[in-house]
Amino acid sequence: MKFDVLTLFPDMISQACSHSIISRGIDSGVISVNPVNPRDYTKDKHKKVDDTPFGGGAGMVLMCQPYFDCFDSIEKTPDTEVIILSPQGEVFNRQISVELSKKSHIILICGHYEGFDERIKEYTKAREISLGDFVLTGGELPALCIIDSVSRNIEGFLGKIESADYDSFSDGLLEYPQYTKPRIYNEMPVPEVLLSGNHAEIAKWRRKQQMIVTFKKRRDLFEKFAVESENSEDLKLLNEVRKQFER
Ligand code: SAM
Repeated sequence: MKFDVLTLFPDMISQACSHSIISRGIDSGVISVNPVNPRDYTKDKHKKVDDTPFGGGAGMVLMCQPYFDCFDSIEKTPDTEVIILSPQGEVFNRQISVELSKKSHIILICGHYEGFDERIKEYTKAREISLGDFVLTGGELPALCIIDSVSRNIEGFLGKIESADYDSFSDGLLEYPQYTKPRIYNEMPVPEVLLSGNHAEIAKWRRKQQMIVTFKKRRDLFEKFAVESENSEDLKLLNEVRKQFER
């Protein structure tokens, strides 16, 4: 998977990608992350990439020329997905993340200041993606979030000791509670079942905990899961959780 990131702040991308699992994914060749700076493509003698908005108003708007030319410089394939980061886009979630992880090339276009000249969106035919209903100073952090999340879905990215199989959202529920050594800390014990060595009982406990956690924290996801579930064991546990916690 190749990520090209159009950004006025390439160091933000390369520095963030030089740590931990992302950096290992790059070293092993599972992903590559390539920041490209539209400022390197400006034809303005002062290296300008933004200007004041037509019609007046505060802030600076990113100009077409450096972004068009920078975008054109990137080699594309029929499988290239072009994304523009914008608070006005569809809100990023696991479904989009999984969908994007099937691509081989993603171009992420980061805005800054007041945002883009609208014609940049038209020219690049980009899919607008938002990280949520709030406004950030730039698209770099959302781009990094997308790179991180999408990469986790790519086979070979996570090592043997990490797994996305039981992560929150992977099957519609949140993850069960996790514990590690010691068995008792500050008089707080680990649930007995996890120490029992009985794998069937542990699996059952974890499944029910997933439902309890989802019921308490994200009732919307719980109800969706309940409607869609066809597994008889799951349906039994869902009913138990409802009886136990519904008032
Ligand atoms: N004036 C724009 C508006 O109100 O829609 C906001 C511009 S914002 C200050 C600058 C840039 O940050 C945007 O062009 C976008 O690339 C990025 N950005 C800000 N909030 C974002 C969000 N929630 N999701 C994705 N990108 C965001």
